[in-house]
Formats: sequence, structure tokens, C-alpha cells
Amino acid sequence: MNYEAFFAAELSKLKDDGRYRIFAELERKAGAFPAAEQFVAEGTRPVTVWCSNDYLGMGQHPKVLDAMHDTLDRCGAGAGGTRNISGTTHSHVVLEAELADLHGKEAALLFTSGYVSNWAALGTLGARIPGCVILSDALNHASMIEGIRHSRAEVHKFTHNSPEDLDRRLSQLDPERPKLVAFESVYSMDGDIAPIAEILDVCEAHGAMSYLDEVHGVGLYGPRGGGVAEREGLMDRVTVIEGTLGKAFGVMGGYIASSAALCDFIRSFASGFIFTTALPPALAAGAAASIRHLKSSHVERARHRDRVAQVRRRLDALGIPTIDNPSHIIPIMVGDAHKCKRISDWLLEHHGIYVQPINYPTVPVGTERLRLTPSPVHTDGDIDRLVTALSEIWSQCELARRALAA
Ligand code: PMP
Repeated sequence: MNYEAFFAAELSKLKDDGRYRIFAELERKAGAFPAAEQFVAEGTRPVTVWCSNDYLGMGQHPKVLDAMHDTLDRCGAGAGGTRNISGTTHSHVVLEAELADLHGKEAALLFTSGYVSNWAALGTLGARIPGCVILSDALNHASMIEGIRHSRAEVHKFTHNSPEDLDRRLSQLDPERPKLVAFESVYSMDGDIAPIAEILDVCEAHGAMSYLDEVHGVGLYGPRGGGVAEREGLMDRVTVIEGTLGKAFGVMGGYIASSAALCDFIRSFASGFIFTTALPPALAAGAAASIRHLKSSHVERARHRDRVAQVRRRLDALGIPTIDNPSHIIPIMVGDAHKCKRISDWLLEHHGIYVQPINYPTVPVGTERLRLTPSPVHTDGDIDRLVTALSEIWSQCELARRALAA
């Protein structure tokens, strides 16, 4: 086989479909909090990012940066080992206690990312609980799907956000078999929110464990940033809450929070926990500072909601098609990969606005979109510039569409 030719041909197919990913190389401007301006690396032209998952700007927050600097100076760069072999520091232990408290659980366990936490926890539960059946929401994230696959447990997909379909599928299973229901709170591409209480009712009726991915909910929802389950008073009914430290908390890493026994079980059996270097202590300290701050400060969440509402209202007024959802994610529906890329390129080139196109396989073909994530660091001026630019490009697209239809 000509390997090089094979790689080139596969990549060229992606390019033809408009799905080839090109990184926008951005240099973040630290210390600029709370300004949203960032710089492209090739020049010094300011670029405002509108697709960051650092939802609250905590990645630039002075408390987070101070904690990281301090721990870096005291402890050095890396953890120096796996958690079992010299890699557990005071910062890791404190962070796990902070996370357990955030979710009202007995314990929490850290992983190097949210992806790894889903992969390792679901993979281990599915593989190690004899006869376990996993019920997985049809729109679950790739990390959950991969973890479930890796477990080789029997899996049944249930209709997205449908407690009725979940109930029907659970009723068909042997009541004696152990069961695990895996789903998310906020679905990141459509921004819809699961009917968590109804899903938990069904889980409880069938004696199933529940596994809730709150990656797009933690820090943002609930009085202390515990996620949608906290907002709805449901945390104690969820068996496992999984989250990330890399989005609203602004740093990096993933975790599960659950009973002491379940966390100890994953700690003792999950290869994705055991056989990998622990997070750098400075990251753990930065994440703990971020969580601690967001447990008591409501300013960021209030301003976040306000920014989201403003952008949504102004796009609606212009007739720009977005998905109407109850979350902080605003997907602008474009419906074509090439068009999405052209709009994204034009926004960057002409207005210094960066919104990455979202294409298949992240979303279905024909539903390509620009996914806006307003944040507390966006000013009124940033919003004005975004809305003006979008209105300009949208009327150009509309004119082009009408010209073609005529
Ligand atoms: N779960 C969901 C629903 C996600 O969207 C993501 C990342 N986009 C992850 C898990 C993985 O989290 P992380 O980025 O911390 O690896």
C-alpha cells in the first residue's frame, strides 16, 4: 500500500466536503480580564472570540492565575507520576474535596480531561459490573460512546431526551440485570437540556444507576455552580455526576463525583485513571480556586445570562435563524459546510470576529452551524460589532439566495 497516497486521498475527501479542520492559531491575552480581546498569532490584530468554551472567562481570572502561579513556584511544572506513584499532591486532594462538596457527594475523582473521565468511568462500570446493560441517550458525546464501546457491555440507545422511550426499553430488560443510564444535562451543539427529573424517575423505577454528564452545566447553573442537577435540586438522586474543569472553570481536567465506594472502585480498576500521569498540581490549584470562587460569586453567572439574552434577542430581531433553547449556547443555523466556512472566514478577515464552523460528524449533514457562546467578558461594544457583522453577511447570503432562486 502507498500509505502517503492513502492519507492524502482521505484528507482531500474531507477538503472536498468542506469538513477539513483548520486551526485558528490564537494567542490568548492573559491579564486582560475582563476583556474579551485576544490576538491572532501571525499578527497583532485583535480578534474577539465568540466560540470559546471558557464560558465565564475564568481562564483569565486573577484568582485562578494567582493560584496557578503560586503552586507552580512552590511545586514545579508536572506531577511527576501517576496518582498512585508519587503523583498525588495536596492540590489534587483539595480539588477532589472541593468537587465532592460542589455536587453534595461523598467523593470525587480527577482525570486528565472530561473525555478521559467519561471514557474511563463508563468503560470500567460497563466492563466490571457483571451483566451490566447500558442505556445511552442517542445524542451522547463521543467520549461517552467510546467509553461504552470500550466496556463491551450490552448497549441500547434511547431516543434523545425521551424518558418514555427509556422506560419502554428498560421494561424489556430482565429486571434482575444491573443497568446504567448515561445522558447529558446540556447538549452542547443544540443547547437543549435533558428532562433530568423524569429520566431519574424512570431510572429509579427500574433500579438503574444514572450517569449524568454535566460538562456544559458545571459552573454555569445552580446556586453554587453545581450544574443543572443542582439548579433542579436533583444532585442527590444522580448516581454519578461527571464534569470538566476545562470549560466554565477555565482550566483543564475532568472528574466524576459519586459515592465513596463507586469512586474508590473506579480509582482501583480504571486503567484511564491508574496508568497515566496526574494533572500538574498548578492546574489542580487553579481549578480549585475557580470552583471556590464560583461557589460564592453570582456576578459571572448573572452577567453570562444577560450577555446570552442580549445576543439572542438581537439575532431574533434580525431574523437570523438560531435554535431556540433554554441554555447559554446559541447555534446559528447555516445548513451547508462550505457556506459556514465562508461566513466564518469573512467574519475573521473583515471584522476580527472568530467563530469556528461546526460541521459533520459533530452535527448531522445539512445542519452545519456557527455556535456562539457569549460570555461575561464580552462588552456591549463586542455584541454590537458581532450583530452588525452578522447582519451584513446574512443580508449578503439572503441576496445571493434570492438571486439564485429568481
Ligand atoms: N462531554 C461533553 C458533553 C463534551 O462536550 C466534552 C467536550 N467538548 C467532553 C465531555 C470532554 O470534556 P473535555 O474537553 O474536558 O475533555
